[in-house]
Amino acid sequence: MPCANSQGVNAMLKGIGASSGIGMGKVLLIKEHDLSYVPKAAEDVQSELARYQSAVEGFCSATLEKAERLKKTAGEKEAEILQGHVLMLQDPYMREEIEKRIESGQCAESALESVCDMFISIFSSADDDLTNQRATDVKDIKNGILRILLGREEADISAAPPGTVLVTAELTPSMTAGICKENIAGIITQTGSKTSHSAILARALEIPAVLSLEHAVDVLHNGDMVILDGDSGEVLQAPDPAQLADYTARQKAYLTEKKALKAFIGKQTATKDGCIVQLAANIGTPLDAQAAVDNDSEGIGLFRTEFLFMDQTALPTEEEQFEAYKKVALMMKGKPVVIRTLDIGGDKEIPYLGLQKEENPFLGFRAVRFCLKRTDIYKSQLRALLRASAYGDIRIMVPLVTRVEELRQVKALLAQLKEELTDQSVPFNSAIQLGVMMETPASAVIADLLAKEADFFSIGTNDLTQYTMCADRGNANVAYLYSHYDPAVLRMIRRIVTCAKDAGILAGMCGEAAADPLLIPLLISFGLEEYSVSPTSVLATRKAIAAWSKEEADMLAQKVMSLPTQQEVLRCLTEHARR
Ligand code: PEP
Ligand code: MG
Repeated sequence: MPCANSQGVNAMLKGIGASSGIGMGKVLLIKEHDLSYVPKAAEDVQSELARYQSAVEGFCSATLEKAERLKKTAGEKEAEILQGHVLMLQDPYMREEIEKRIESGQCAESALESVCDMFISIFSSADDDLTNQRATDVKDIKNGILRILLGREEADISAAPPGTVLVTAELTPSMTAGICKENIAGIITQTGSKTSHSAILARALEIPAVLSLEHAVDVLHNGDMVILDGDSGEVLQAPDPAQLADYTARQKAYLTEKKALKAFIGKQTATKDGCIVQLAANIGTPLDAQAAVDNDSEGIGLFRTEFLFMDQTALPTEEEQFEAYKKVALMMKGKPVVIRTLDIGGDKEIPYLGLQKEENPFLGFRAVRFCLKRTDIYKSQLRALLRASAYGDIRIMVPLVTRVEELRQVKALLAQLKEELTDQSVPFNSAIQLGVMMETPASAVIADLLAKEADFFSIGTNDLTQYTMCADRGNANVAYLYSHYDPAVLRMIRRIVTCAKDAGILAGMCGEAAADPLLIPLLISFGLEEYSVSPTSVLATRKAIAAWSKEEADMLAQKVMSLPTQQEVLRCLTEHARR
């Protein structure tokens, strides 16, 4: 934790890097305006209801105006975040609850605040970022309407001068709409994570951002000179001349690299000597598909569907799922879209399912194991996927497979649903591909058997590494073991790719390792055919693949695969790294 620092003292602070780039400039502190009030009983219920309604209408029209502005500066999908606020206010439960409280005599301010606070506490107590994010949205809505009811001004950041680093407790979507991106050199917040709306918006605006910097609004002061690194999450307060020179050079290198990557837009993904591979993107929501398109991704290699289940308080309907999958299929215009079926459990909890706490959730009742027990839930997802397959090249991927039987059971369910849909004359792709996410040592060991029954493999190195090394991916004490450079993990990967190739099915990878430039020559040599990476890594991965010929990659792989330790592997790969 950073200690309180007086102005002008050189200090290094650390938050979460959430939007790439180096930002330098002077701090502008955005403090929440005072929204306190004295609650009073509503004297005339009808006029209090009317006062509330008119504040809501004012809020909605201002929000839609902001969304229009945001559409121009950040993009359509970012504007949808603000449009979502208007939709949230139309939620019948929320609306009726607030009106009921006003009818029972509460003033509009306290009726609004009490209902919003109830939602905020539900959403912020969830363990996942996506649901937590909804708490920020509700807070934004609450403050926006309260401000109108109380007649208070909104913080205006549109007049911030060039070279401003915004520092705020929480960057709300409505605040972002006022940003003039040419003038904002960086954003620092006290809360938020890589997947929060603040992060999404900062990335869309291409403004470097560091989030979750503890005590940011107390430690940093108006006018402080700061440097922030949106990748490492470091913030330098009152940098000395040497640091300034160092970061200016880094900033220049970053911008040069960014420009160089743009040259890879529209190019085929291939090695130096012309071996063509596929380069896809990993996404978590239909909104991310736009980022995949913007970064010239050749498809979606992993669509994590958990958000549909985690971002709400009840199971999504088949219809809701169908719409989400169809949306992505249409956005990708016939390019492959690999959709992973529900992968909950372990680090991904869904409170409303009421699952029992387990001693070892990573080894427990999760992913395909859960789905094959709760076929009611699974069938509605599979039906939605089949129906959406009429709108694009949707492929289904099953997570956490350890046995051939699991794949067969999924196939049987699909066959049953296909029959149902045919009887009902509902269109779907009858040749839809069914693949396996190769992320357990068991699946790697039986890769030859699975390859006979699957249409494709995609290696999930995030889990494959944790299960192979018996090292929890989130436990800092065993982080030294959690490495995809370990000979054990590399052998697993090589085996999976070899078995896929022997059986004539596609071998892909959607774990983080697919975007690691150090590992790429090995993956080329093994014969990996599809790389699926985060949308922002697509172009860098295309560049990294183009830096190697198959022959050069083979020579390096031969050397590396004979090394006995992770350190030697890493050293050798680092020595041969190409830029
Ligand atoms: C993986 O395990 O490598 C993977 C891509 O999936 P997740 O990170 O969602 O577990
Ligand atoms: Mg996984």
